[in-house]
Amino acid sequence: MVAPKKILMIVLDGLADRPVAELGNKTPLQAASKPNLNWFAEHGKCGLMDPIAPGIRPGSDTSHLALLGYDPDKVYTGRGPFEAVGVGLSLEEGDVAFRCNFATIDENGIVKDRRAGRIKEGTSQIAKDLDGLEMGGLKVIFKEGTEHRAALVLRGEGLSPEVTDVDPHAVDVKYDVCQPLDPEAQRTADIVNEFVEESRKILKNHEVNRRRKEEGKLPANIILPRGSGVFPHIQTLEAKYGLKCAAIGGVTLVRGICKLAGMDVLDVKGATGGLDTDMDAKGRKALEALESHDFVFMNIKAGDICGHDGRADLKVEVVERIDKMMGIIREGYPEDTVMAVTSDHTTPVAVGDHTGDPVPVLIYGKGFRFDQVKDFDEISVAQGILSRIKGTDLLQILLNLSNRAEKFGA
Ligand SMILES: [Zn+2]
Repeated sequence: MVAPKKILMIVLDGLADRPVAELGNKTPLQAASKPNLNWFAEHGKCGLMDPIAPGIRPGSDTSHLALLGYDPDKVYTGRGPFEAVGVGLSLEEGDVAFRCNFATIDENGIVKDRRAGRIKEGTSQIAKDLDGLEMGGLKVIFKEGTEHRAALVLRGEGLSPEVTDVDPHAVDVKYDVCQPLDPEAQRTADIVNEFVEESRKILKNHEVNRRRKEEGKLPANIILPRGSGVFPHIQTLEAKYGLKCAAIGGVTLVRGICKLAGMDVLDVKGATGGLDTDMDAKGRKALEALESHDFVFMNIKAGDICGHDGRADLKVEVVERIDKMMGIIREGYPEDTVMAVTSDHTTPVAVGDHTGDPVPVLIYGKGFRFDQVKDFDEISVAQGILSRIKGTDLLQILLNLSNRAEKFGA
């Protein structure tokens, strides 16, 4: 028998759920036909996992950090920096980053819509005109995200995240002036305020807004930064554990976090972060990547989307498509690999957002202890010998099972 030395981690984003009335009070995982996931559960060991801690509602960012072995309490320094990672910017230690909205104000600076009529088109064109502007001796980095979202990054000496939001988090009030919370943050606040005023000037008669006006839509005539944070030092998985890592996933936020962890972020033809993603192609790519990497990570976003949209029927379909992909993994399974299948959080269709419920986890591989669990779902796995673990435990458990863990003591 070959001793496991490689790791495959498959994260079924937001797939875990609660009982759904329209599914006869079953969860989508319980209601779906999933012979391959069940086969892995039957031949592996199962349990429940609290992505962060019991009852804590995880964001996809904090839970992915935990699953990759980082303590989110230490490395997560606020939404701003991770939003910036999420829109695809590469951040460096010490960068100060903000989440931003494209918003609508009137001529007196009163905020009329914090999302500029949920603007969808033209934000990349606007972002190009704001990116690289010089403020206070440094060039700002600005990039659009999805819809009305964007990120602002300041990179340079003497910056501080201790500043207040420009976004007033309300409408029919004037936007706020960015204030330093300690004297050393004055320069950062000045740069932010200069950027906001410059955005007003540039956006006033911007082509995108002229077009929006013609279409009767609200203009995106200001950028409102909020949620400042300094980007932490994140040690790569290769430096921490000596692992050569690859990641497969379509969502920008997840790809960004994997990049921070020093993983090779692979592109898969036909695979997206949406419902239409080619899951089979991802499965084949994971098997291929295991030939050249020690640790392969995969995220499939589709289940989370169904949870946010409240679509139990679609979520059942997603489980069945995932199961088909698991069939490909099962068929080509490299015997020197230990695999975990889990979720980064629960996204119940009845809630439409992430909740703090634990998620199912299964671990499969050769040569270690197994249990009697035969079904991969939220309820059945609770009988498994993994019992209840935390998100940050998972990679450590996989390192142990793949004979890579360092001994603690003599
Ligand atoms: Zn998620």
